[in-house]
Amino acid sequence: MTATRVKLKPSFNPKRVSILGSTGSIGQSTIKLLQQSPERYEVVALSARSNVALLAEQARALKPAFVAIEDATLLPELKTALAGTNIKIGAGCDAIIEAAAEPADWVMSAIVGAAALAPTLAAIKQGTIIALANKECLVCAGEMVMAEVNKHGTTLLPVDSEHNALFQAMDFSKAEMIDRLTLTASGGPFRTLPAAELKNVTVKQAVHHPNWSMGAKISVDSATMMNKGLEIIEAYHLFPVEKEQIDVLVHPQSIVHGLVSYCDGSVVAGLSFTDMRVPIAFTLGWPARLESSGTPKLDLAKIGNLTFEAPNEDKFPALRIAREALIAGGSAPLVLNAANEVAVQAFINEKIGFMDITRITEQAIETCRDSKTPASLEEVIALDSEARNCTASLIASL
Ligand code: NDP
Repeated sequence: MTATRVKLKPSFNPKRVSILGSTGSIGQSTIKLLQQSPERYEVVALSARSNVALLAEQARALKPAFVAIEDATLLPELKTALAGTNIKIGAGCDAIIEAAAEPADWVMSAIVGAAALAPTLAAIKQGTIIALANKECLVCAGEMVMAEVNKHGTTLLPVDSEHNALFQAMDFSKAEMIDRLTLTASGGPFRTLPAAELKNVTVKQAVHHPNWSMGAKISVDSATMMNKGLEIIEAYHLFPVEKEQIDVLVHPQSIVHGLVSYCDGSVVAGLSFTDMRVPIAFTLGWPARLESSGTPKLDLAKIGNLTFEAPNEDKFPALRIAREALIAGGSAPLVLNAANEVAVQAFINEKIGFMDITRITEQAIETCRDSKTPASLEEVIALDSEARNCTASLIASL
């Protein structure tokens, strides 16, 4: 057994909060929660990539000290939209990192993709609470992220519903008595579609998740089941278990999110309604619980049936590919993540078909992974860029 990787320490009710990726699906859900009890929070920083209109609207409502937009060409537009306020405005990648480093008690990391890594590391350095929605930064640099968490005494609270459920079900003081961790998966929009028809599915069909309302990238990841592959790697970094102890179980209703099985045969599960405000509220209230979060309550009698089945890894090879990358180690998980991001974007741009996403990702891992685990942010950025170029070449050669 490895040592407990999630650091638990007593904390206090968060007061100063920042949201990285405030205009996204998780960012907006977080804001809904803050607006339930606005007097409890002081918003320090908000950030987005290019959605000036929504960022400005959020900033006018929440009055943060600082807002950052990644696309620097949009700075004049953002300045115009916030004219007459005294909100400090920044633009470019450095401004996103600056937003993350603004002193705060609680930072939501909800930028999509590996772009979240540098800002999340900057937020971790504060040594307070990080609510981690972004999973890609643990996939591409899990060792480094967790080392920084330990070094700075940061409390890392998982927002991803499966990991949040595992966190709540887990007895960290008896980590050596954990037998297995199980992440559930809805199976995505194509769970029951015959395998032969997968090659013809459209972007519109792929982003339409049956249970969750999410951003485009994670929705496509759910459709290929790469999302669950990334989550296996995420769980390995967050929890005190070995790679082989993490299972996936398909559960189409998405009510049970994670199960911790102990050596005596007991299983403790985490359940909630399919609304990301539930796990976000947990991290916002932690270590207490928010009394008036306004989150929907679970009504099991109304739901009636919960069903479970084994994942079909022949139809959805992403699970196998991700598991192999985790076991291979070195730069394989990083290449997996970068290649998948590029391939998903190419699918969204209708440059490749649905089945090409995992095929290209696997080819990219075979082509450009090496056995060395990147040891610094600079190395991660360089390897990530190499993997993206390699994937783009593979796509071009199709
Ligand atoms: P969205 O695509 O809805 O939102 C992404 C956010 O990140 C937006 O604010 C976007 O700005 C910003 N952003 C995108 N690229 C960059 C960049 N290069 N630099 C700075 N900011 C950027 O994603 P989700 O909210 O769905 O997901 C966010 C993360 O949370 C992902 O890692 C996902 O896997 C994870 N997650 C999401 C869940 C969900 O239910 N949505 C559930 C569990 C985990 P803009 O709007 O301007 O483009």
